[in-house]
Amino acid sequence: MDLSRRDFLKVGSAAVGTLLLPATLAGAASPSAFPLHKRVGETATICPYCSVGCGVIVATDSTGHILNVEGDPDNLHNRGTLDSKPLAIPQLANSPNRLQKVLYRAPNSDHWEEKDWDWAVSEISKRVKATRDATFKEQEGGVTVNRTESIAWLGGAANNNEDCYLATKFARALGIAYLEHQARI
Ligand code: SF4
Repeated sequence: MDLSRRDFLKVGSAAVGTLLLPATLAGAASPSAFPLHKRVGETATICPYCSVGCGVIVATDSTGHILNVEGDPDNLHNRGTLDSKPLAIPQLANSPNRLQKVLYRAPNSDHWEEKDWDWAVSEISKRVKATRDATFKEQEGGVTVNRTESIAWLGGAANNNEDCYLATKFARALGIAYLEHQARI
């Protein structure tokens, strides 16, 4: 069959139009054609895994169950991109193995006890004070050092500049010399 250039363009246009039709119809469908089965809220937050601090949008239902995680296109650090670690957050956060409560195992005990957060914060404070009081050195080798070497402070990648500033000031005020960040070790 002889096909002129004009015939070829006519046949080609018809074929492309046929291919595009379903996509056009889908794009024109009203949002009510896809009703949400659950109310979904979105929260902008920061990936906790490294010091880049990529922006993440977390979608949750009304019970707080995480439905989806994606990169935040408005965040200057990542402009919507993400690597695989934060994409695994729904698996971790929704896992039945995730710890939701404070568990404490007393010295020489063979079992864990459930405690509340007030107890945990108070216990940590008491132990930090007792350790600092028992180990604080003002002088070493004739030099003023004002430090304790028996406490270490570890920061996390989710801490922002202001968190880190306050944490560093507080740790230095206690005389903590071993001050580090999880993203560097
Ligand atoms: S772990 Fe990946 S996604 Fe998370 S802050 Fe670092 S680079 Fe960004």
